[in-house]
Amino acid sequence: MRACGSCRGEVEERFRFCPWCGAPQRVKIVEFFRSHPLVEGDAAKALRVSRYFGEDEVRRHVRFSVWSEDGRTPHAEAAVSLAEDEAERLARFLAEPAGIPEQPTAG
Ligand SMILES: [Zn+2]
Repeated sequence: MRACGSCRGEVEERFRFCPWCGAPQRVKIVEFFRSHPLVEGDAAKALRVSRYFGEDEVRRHVRFSVWSEDGRTPHAEAAVSLAEDEAERLARFLAEPAGIPEQPTAG
């Protein structure tokens, strides 16, 4: 257990947000996503997504970076940060079902 920086309430280490006041308990969370195994040239790459929390809108953002380890030390090839509203738009875009939409059947 540790104390919330905002309300001093007790918060378990695994919690991302304080259960008492809702304040974010981590500065950022990071996830890596593997590249598609069958797309040529992408085998040694991964997408790193860092979600930054913060008190204000400028600090809250999502940063995407393409990581490569093609024979060298893993390094970022490119990166871009999205504001929260664009990150939410991306989340909605990805939430759409994959595949070809079914055609409505006649009759
Ligand atoms: Zn709190």
